[in-house]
Amino acid sequence: RKIIFSGIQPTGVPHLGNYLGALRQWVKLQNELHKRHVLLYSIVDLHAITVKQDPKELAQWRKEMFASLMAVGLDPKRSIIFAQSDVSYHSELMWILSCYASIGYLGRMTQWKSKLALPDNASPFDPSPSNKAALKLGLFSYPVLQAADILLYQTTHVPVGEDQAQHLEFARELAIGFNHAIATNNNSNFRLHPPETILSPAKRVMSLTNPTKKMSKSDENPKSRILITDTKEVIQNKLKSALTDSVEGVSYDPEGRPGVSNLIDLMYHIDESVAASPEELAKDLEGLSMRALKEKVADVVDEGIRDVREKYEEVMAMPGSELRALAKKGEQQAGSYAGKTLGEVKRAVGLSTEL
Ligand code: ATP
Ligand code: MG
Repeated sequence: RKIIFSGIQPTGVPHLGNYLGALRQWVKLQNELHKRHVLLYSIVDLHAITVKQDPKELAQWRKEMFASLMAVGLDPKRSIIFAQSDVSYHSELMWILSCYASIGYLGRMTQWKSKLALPDNASPFDPSPSNKAALKLGLFSYPVLQAADILLYQTTHVPVGEDQAQHLEFARELAIGFNHAIATNNNSNFRLHPPETILSPAKRVMSLTNPTKKMSKSDENPKSRILITDTKEVIQNKLKSALTDSVEGVSYDPEGRPGVSNLIDLMYHIDESVAASPEELAKDLEGLSMRALKEKVADVVDEGIRDVREKYEEVMAMPGSELRALAKKGEQQAGSYAGKTLGEVKRAVGLSTEL
């Protein structure tokens, strides 16, 4: 039996990177696997507070993320949809795993560096004052919580974007290290399952305003991303101001022409029936001006997310009590799986209550 787990932070409405790189894949897996397998999708709010959040805004974003997940096609009857902080086993397993996690390995992770705009060779013990002041323990140890999220369900497969591949490798290594450490315990045959990563074809959608960086919810420039709830007019405007180049015509060259190639990728991945590959699509559009290309991409994107946008409005209009009941159901379902694993982990490390 496959167990699929993935998460998304409630740090804003999902954008096309989240949608094409992760959410659309989640729905596909749900529709293919729900009869015989288990699918868990979490709003990972404990991860969101690794950077500064306004409490009111965070609460609203949790709700909006719930609506977004329903809007893209996740179905509480087929998938377990829940908020991470509602299932406290996540934090508990994180602590236990922290006792097996290497600081050296965590120090090589790039995410805490990119969130603090530090160079790739930065160290957590860097004496530079800006680093010391800004690096919080939670931001640094975030991959341990992420590993706990995954391992808590004995997950077999994790569908994520490419930026998370490094953390998944960390989770796998942590599971293997933990298993090795408990192997001497004769009272338990329990092992954590090292998960596999599933990358979607659109594994890294780039920012519209800085196409060498990935599109992100937390980028301070709202024009850097297209949200799954954006209207056609907003999509057109954001694409109009997307950074391209002054080379004539359209060609696909992610290294040399990152802006234009990102637009082609977007169009290709939104609707893969338009061409056989991004290269082919670029050839079909060869003669277009930048302006005409952007208009075309806007049409395809608008068409591609229209249903999601409409469903989002419907879900947001549902009575609060209905949404709360759905969240509660997810919490209970996830909790029953998580409680079982945590119990076995505790027994395996000698934290059992059987005295
Ligand atoms: P934040 O800026 O707050 O970190 P985010 O946009 O990076 O937000 P996350 O909630 O961190 O989104 O990630 C949710 C999922 O979306 C993950 O699986 C991640 O790999 C994927 N993802 C995020 N950005 C992109 C992107 N630009 N292209 C493809 N996948 C992405
Ligand atoms: Mg992120």
